[in-house]
Formats: sequence, C-alpha cells, structure tokens
Amino acid sequence: MREKGSASRLSSINSPLFSDYHCHPQGHRVQPYTHSLLQPWIDSARARGLSDIAFTDHDRYHAGIDFDELDKLRAANPDIKIRAGIELDNDPETSAAGSDWVEKNWERLDFVLGSIHYLDRPDQMFDSVPAGAEQFAGREIDEIYADYFRRIREIAATGLVDCLSHLDLIKIHGHRPNAPVRDLVSETLDAISAYGLAIELSTAGWRKPVNELYPSDEIIRLAIAKGIRFTTASDAHSHVQLAENYDRLAQKMAEFGIKEVCVFKRHKPRVCAVFGL
Ligand SMILES: [Zn+2]
Ligand SMILES: [Zn+2]
Repeated sequence: MREKGSASRLSSINSPLFSDYHCHPQGHRVQPYTHSLLQPWIDSARARGLSDIAFTDHDRYHAGIDFDELDKLRAANPDIKIRAGIELDNDPETSAAGSDWVEKNWERLDFVLGSIHYLDRPDQMFDSVPAGAEQFAGREIDEIYADYFRRIREIAATGLVDCLSHLDLIKIHGHRPNAPVRDLVSETLDAISAYGLAIELSTAGWRKPVNELYPSDEIIRLAIAKGIRFTTASDAHSHVQLAENYDRLAQKMAEFGIKEVCVFKRHKPRVCAVFGL
C-alpha cells in the first residue's frame, strides 16, 4: 500500500507495466516546453519503473510543444523512451487549428490520441467535474451515448489519430445507458479495428466520480475479441499522477489475459510483451 505524501511520491510501484501514453506536462494552459517543465516528469517516470512515456498535451496548447526541447530531453535521459504526442479532440473552437497543427507536424510526432470532450455545448467539456454533469440533466441518456460514440467514429476516421483515449468517457459522471450498448460499442470498435487504431486502458476513471477503469470490462472483452491493441495510460495532469494505480491496472490486465501493450514511434505501433502479467 502506498502512502500519500511527498516522501512517497517518487517511490516505485509494484507493477510490471512500463509505459504511460497519456500525460499533460502543460496541464490546462500554455506552458512552453523547457527542461525545468519536463525533467520532473522523466524523474517521476524513472522512479515508477516506466521506460517509455508519451507527452500528449491537449491540442489547444500546441503552441507550447517544442520538438527541439524534446530532443534535448531525450539526449539527457537515454534510458527513457520519450515520445512526442498530442491529444487531439473535438473542441468546436480550437480543434480545426489543432488538426492543422497535427498534419503540419505529423513527421515529428510519434503518437496522436483522439478524444471526444464536447457534445452539443461548444463552451464546456462534458467531462468537466462536476460542472459537465449539467449537460446530462433531463436528457435521454441512450441518445447521449449514441451521439458520443458517433463522434468517436468520426474522430477515428480522420486519419490523424493513432489511438482513442478514454473510450467510454461518457460514463464519467456515473450516467448509465438504459438499453444495452453492446451493438453501439461493437460498431465503434469495428471501425477502430478497421483503421488499425489502438485504444487505451486509462486509470484516470478510477479518480473520477464513476470510479471505474476506462473502458469498461464489457468493452475490453469486445476489443480483445476483435484483436484491438491497448496502450496503458494515467492521463496525468501532474507528474505525481504518472502511472497512477498501475498496480491495480496490471492486476486487471492479468485477469483479462492481456499480456501485451502497444507503444509507438513515428506513429508505428509495436506490441511489447509485459513480463509478469
Ligand atoms: Zn481527454
Ligand atoms: Zn488527457
């Protein structure tokens, strides 16, 4: 059991997992990449037994991403694979510029996450906690689920993403569909599989109101059956969240018989065995 507190923050985690492919060094504002911004993430990764990490800041903060700074960081930390990534979403105000930036910088990027954070309201991410829950009030939940997964298929089809983030983020506030969503999810996973994309296993759900891994057990089982690859991710917005709950995730993966994770270099996926699972 890990204790809380600064002394234990860089302590190792008892997990065979070695990669975290979703983290936000800039947090929720533009903070240009510098050694002092990024090195603590690498120190934290190393302390937690990670050897492969992808920085995936939100596309609306792309101005802060500096590929030369990432090259310097790689040179200073040759024991850790450091991937240049971004989380592209469907922000009605900023994602067009984000997509342009991804296209322009495709060759220097290793990894692009695709995310749906917006439904009908252009001014608020539905996954804001707790305010985003307003968007569900008085609405037919099954329709919201159908709309959400339609948007997932849309971003998967752009050709600009390598992996889908938090695939069932729509459950974040604990709203559950009334009708089974198996067909909806299955259709979405078929599209993901057809495009050759991965999905992430994200421990972030365990720190949200829903208190459940993203995606659900049912979706994981369907994805396994369709041969879809998985990345492992914490969606850390602070370096102390890197690899959060990875001991628990490793246990879950072992229960599902998932013994491999996917890593990316220049958008090329590579499947790695995770020993100990
Ligand atoms: Zn996200
Ligand atoms: Zn994120």
